[in-house]
Amino acid sequence: MPAPLRAVLEAEVPFSSLTVEAQQEARDGTVKTLFRTREGHKVEAVLMRYRDGRRSLCVSSQSGCPLTCTFCATGSMRFGRNLTASEILDQALHFRRIEPVDHCVFMGMGEPMLNLDSVLAAARRLPDIGITWRRTTISTVGWMPGLRRFVDEVEEPIRLALSLHAPDDALRSQLMPVNDRFPLREVLAECRRYHALRHRKVYVEYVMLAGVNDRVEQARALVELLDPKVFKVNLIPYNPTGIYDGSSRRAIDAFKAVLDRARLPSTVRLTRGRDIAAACGQLAAAQPVSG
Ligand code: SAH
Repeated sequence: MPAPLRAVLEAEVPFSSLTVEAQQEARDGTVKTLFRTREGHKVEAVLMRYRDGRRSLCVSSQSGCPLTCTFCATGSMRFGRNLTASEILDQALHFRRIEPVDHCVFMGMGEPMLNLDSVLAAARRLPDIGITWRRTTISTVGWMPGLRRFVDEVEEPIRLALSLHAPDDALRSQLMPVNDRFPLREVLAECRRYHALRHRKVYVEYVMLAGVNDRVEQARALVELLDPKVFKVNLIPYNPTGIYDGSSRRAIDAFKAVLDRARLPSTVRLTRGRDIAAACGQLAAAQPVSG
C-alpha cells in the first residue's frame, strides 16, 4: 500500500481500540495486560496458561465496576464506563496475537449483565478466533435485568456462572451489597430457569473466606440451596485484597467434603497469577511494580 494511504489508515482506522500500557508475566506463566481506552480508562485482562495446554482468557466488560463487593479489589477503583464490543474483543485479540487461545471467561473487571449488549456482541464473535461458545463463560453477581435477558435471548451455548459466596441473604448482603436489590431466592430461581430452558448447568462461584462463609454448617446450607442437577460449585481460594483472610486448605477440604457427600459437584479453582495481582478479584489497575 502507498505510504500516504498507510498514514491515513493508521490515523483513521486504528488497529485496536485499546492501547497497551503495561504487561506482566507471573511465575506460573499467567500474563496480565493493562490497557487504556481512547479517553484513558484503564482495563485489565489476563491470559492463563495451564499445564494441560489450555489457554484461557479472562476479559473485562467495564473499566472498574460500580458494584461494591467487599472482597473484590475492582470495586475500590473508580468506575469508568461500559466497554464497547470492540474494546472487549480487542482484549482477546491482543492475546490471540501472542498465542492460540481456547477458553474465555467474562470474569475480569465489571459486571457483564450491566453491559449485556456489548458483552454478547463480543462473545458471539469469539469462535472466529478459536474460542467456541461452550468454552465461553459469562459470570454475574445476579444482576436480574441482564440475567433475565440472558436466559431468554441467548440461544448460543454460552455458559453461565453465578457469584454466590454465601448461602443466606444476611451474609450475602454483607459481602455483596447488590444482594439487597436482587436477593438469593430470585437469582437462584432465574438460574433454574436457565437450566430448564437451555439444559446447561450453572457454575456457582464461592470465594472461601476464613471464619466468614467457610463453616461446615454453611456448606450444609449450600447443599440445601443448590440442586445438584442444576448447579456445579467452584470453590475459589481467596486472593488477598484487604480485609479478609483466605480459608485454610483444611477448611476448604472440609467444606468440599460436605458437598461431596451430598453429591453436589464441586471443584477447587486453581489460583493463577497471584504474584502479579492477576488472580480473581485482584484486577484494580494498580501500577505494576517495576522490574
Ligand atoms: N461481576 C461479575 C464478573 C467478575 S467475576 C461477577 O462478580 O461474577 C470475578 C470472580 O472473582 C467473581 O466470582 C468474584 O466474586 C471473584 N472474586 C472477587 N474478589 C475475589 C478475591 N479477592 N479472591 C477470589 N475471588 C474473588
